[in-house]
Amino acid sequence: MEYEAVIGLEVHVQIRTKTKMFTSVEHKFAEPPNTLTDPVIWAFPGVLPVLNFEAIKRTIELGLMLGCKIPEITKWDRKNYFYPDSPKNYQLSQYDQPLCLGGGVEIELPAKNASEMGEHRIVRLTRIHLEEDVGKLTHFNSDSLVDYNRAGTPLMEIVSEPDMHSSEEVFAYLTSLKNTISCAGISDCDMEKGQMRCDVNVSVRPKGSKEFGVKVEMKNINSISNARNSIDYEIKRQIDCLKNGGQIVQETRRWDDNKEYSYAMRSKEDAQDYRYFPDPDLVPVYISDEWLESIRSKQPEFRTEKMKRYKEEYDIPEYDIDIITGSKHLADIFEASVALGSQPKKVSNWLMVETMRLLKEKEMEPEDIRFSPEHLSRLIALVDGKVINSSVAKEVFQVMFEEDVDPEQYVEEKGLKTVNDEGALRKVVEEVIAANPQSVEDYHNGKEKAIGFLVGQTMKAMKGKADPASVNQMLKELL
Ligand code: ADP
Ligand code: MG
Repeated sequence: MEYEAVIGLEVHVQIRTKTKMFTSVEHKFAEPPNTLTDPVIWAFPGVLPVLNFEAIKRTIELGLMLGCKIPEITKWDRKNYFYPDSPKNYQLSQYDQPLCLGGGVEIELPAKNASEMGEHRIVRLTRIHLEEDVGKLTHFNSDSLVDYNRAGTPLMEIVSEPDMHSSEEVFAYLTSLKNTISCAGISDCDMEKGQMRCDVNVSVRPKGSKEFGVKVEMKNINSISNARNSIDYEIKRQIDCLKNGGQIVQETRRWDDNKEYSYAMRSKEDAQDYRYFPDPDLVPVYISDEWLESIRSKQPEFRTEKMKRYKEEYDIPEYDIDIITGSKHLADIFEASVALGSQPKKVSNWLMVETMRLLKEKEMEPEDIRFSPEHLSRLIALVDGKVINSSVAKEVFQVMFEEDVDPEQYVEEKGLKTVNDEGALRKVVEEVIAANPQSVEDYHNGKEKAIGFLVGQTMKAMKGKADPASVNQMLKELL
């Protein structure tokens, strides 16, 4: 018998807000353990939750982008369970009245051959609801540590219909979601940092059958490739089991990234095990038409639209477009700098090379960039106007990246302007020539490279404040 896989995903995405979902403690990454907490997170008696409207707004924004219906009333429920990652013994979530209903994610499947476009189809969504993330446990041999920094982070859960049938479709689905959300600036979706993670539900059934098979869930898959591998493994395991006359049991399995296999964790709990009930401390939220309209009117562009527009408007390489449109903040800086008159390719170069290098070095996200488009434009103008050379510009950029200094002012204060006084330059070049007879001789004997060394010596003598092209020209003249 031939079998067909049926797959549905629950994707969790941490929303990029300043503060947590139900309290004013900051929501940040990579801080010392248990520093982003307060009595609400610790669940002290008598504390009350306060809703973060920004998180609600951002979830509605995504819902509208994905064509979901936004009900007029949404409410919060307690999902009860006992586990050290949640000191309250329940998680605030949404049960029967989520923020978004229906909608769908457009996916593009790989093209069958290079000359064709990949097939596009819609994976239907069931709902998107908003909840709070829980703390993080680290297990050792005989004990465990808990860090509540992550607890209370606004978390949306995007639930798909069981509409996918292969790991390839899941790959396309996760890629499309990630692109849409990160381009809209709703989350950075960095899966390595746990900002986006998914539970995959897999079942198999005889091909052609309309009924669903028993599903198995694998929780907290933390990369797109792990999702792909775990699904391929699970489909094969289930088909082999059925072919050998076995039965699939409904359960939660854990996927082991390193060993590339899954093992049973626990039999799956039902909704009733969580004893959901409306949270008595939070009132239901009424979403007015006006509010919805104001969110709709500022709806972010889809990544695909934005990429197309960039190609037409700015004519920069596709590689650059891919990186820049991957982050809302990066794209905003790019567009604002170009609007201030800087050449698109020059702006893109600063973002692609130096900005990316510093982000990586400092383990920051593009959304954390602090320098303003005005300052970036001004820096580009300083180089264009030959006021500073490109290596000085890199130094200035580094300070700008760290402290958002005004490059013009900084160059002035630190005396970094290129020396354009020809007499002064000639004097230094003459000294360098006199001090390096061997290189001069090499140059005269046809060793082109020798001039590079002399340029370097001159730049050094001038503490970097010369235009390398002028130095080169002056050297050739005097030699
Ligand atoms: P649960 O209550 O166990 O979380 P839900 O019915 O809410 O189950 O579905 C959770 C996810 O599992 C959804 O993404 C849904 O599409 C998917 N799903 C449901 N039934 C199946 C099935 N038989 N096979 C594969 N996926 C399924
Ligand atoms: Mg589930």
